[in-house]
Amino acid sequence: MISRKNSEQLFEKAKTYFPGGVNSPVRAFKSVMGAPLFIKKGDGAYVWDEDDNQFIDFCCSWGPLILGHNNEKVRKKIEETLANGTSFGAPTKLENELAELILSRNPYADKIRFTSSGTEAVMSAIRLARGYTKRDKIIKFEGCYHGHSDSLLVKAGSGLVTFGESSSAGVPEAFAAETIVLPLNDPEALEACVRELGNEIACAIIEPIPANNGLLLQEKGFLTKLREICTQYGILLLFDEVISGFRVAFSGAAEYYGITPDLVTYGKIIGGGLPVGAYGGKAEIMACISPDGPVYQAGTLSGNPVAMAAGIAALEQCAQPGFYQDQEERTNYLVDKINAYAGEKGYAFEIFSIGSIFWIAFSDKVAIRRADEIDSDMTPFKMLHSELLNRGIYIGPSGYEVGFISKAHTKEILDTTFPAFCEALDAVFAK
Ligand code: PMP
Repeated sequence: MISRKNSEQLFEKAKTYFPGGVNSPVRAFKSVMGAPLFIKKGDGAYVWDEDDNQFIDFCCSWGPLILGHNNEKVRKKIEETLANGTSFGAPTKLENELAELILSRNPYADKIRFTSSGTEAVMSAIRLARGYTKRDKIIKFEGCYHGHSDSLLVKAGSGLVTFGESSSAGVPEAFAAETIVLPLNDPEALEACVRELGNEIACAIIEPIPANNGLLLQEKGFLTKLREICTQYGILLLFDEVISGFRVAFSGAAEYYGITPDLVTYGKIIGGGLPVGAYGGKAEIMACISPDGPVYQAGTLSGNPVAMAAGIAALEQCAQPGFYQDQEERTNYLVDKINAYAGEKGYAFEIFSIGSIFWIAFSDKVAIRRADEIDSDMTPFKMLHSELLNRGIYIGPSGYEVGFISKAHTKEILDTTFPAFCEALDAVFAK
């Protein structure tokens, strides 16, 4: 068993400062065993906690670190920029550079606006959709998480699923009433909804690769249908690519599936590990944003130079030829081996993956609408989480969250992961 003495002490102290001892709920390890590990350092594929335990990290800060921890080019670019100050509240060249890097490769957005988080990006894109269409209602899909803004905290995934809540206290019913929740991958439900309310709906927001309630891979035909229906009814299609953007392909799931949304949101990878979000879309729609148009949105630290620098250094590396293929190959290399092992042993277990995103499920059935279709008992996940920590492998502390593989997860590191993972599985299934 690893020692968590220092983490436990720090957590006790943290509980006196922060609700639940944390500044973001899933970090509290509520749905797994023991105190959360306080991390003091990361390098490449590894993190170290305050008890000096070393782990191979498959959480990667919940997605941003596609290059691993402390990537040298990212760090150097941050250091260079930092030497000139941290924030000016005025335009900088770095904003142009990051925008150029993205937009020159991205046929899905003519213009972009940087924010400081994914939540802000999505919240702003929804306001824009409402302002542009002059309609109030929005469609969201059950289990998709789009950050914690009021109208989107309805049947969301992420920490909310973990805590068994379908919504949040403090969200006025009147707000939630403007959000229509539909099941994923269900064209009939979608058609029935738009037949009745189509002309009142501003936008349909979806994680094209839903990854906050397990990994609920949608049939491409459903996403295509969604695109067609949105066009037919003048509903804007909003792809929330906070996880999938720059992860499954440079231009995200839109590029992966070849489907063009009207609006798109990014977060996580776009900031190279610093706080950046963005929303973008067609020029005509983006022209509605202040100061060009009537939809207000702003941010003191939006486009922050240090964060832009980190984003530039990260995305330059992601834009290299073969980057995404290599990411996917290494992910499949590990996932296929573990799945084959579990299959040989007859374990009811499978890792599902797309690109370098993976999800651990204690079932070999595919979930497409809700993670709990196949996986409502989280006890084996809890056990696996603990067995993995004891063998030097760190995964996110919730069975509903996905894991990530970074460029720093070399084949050698994956080769060390494999036997440790199999041992952890054996320990879970022996109990
Ligand atoms: N959208 C999606 C799809 C997400 O996964 C997340 C965060 N996990 C968000 C929005 C919110 O982003 P942030 O946590 O940066 O506010």
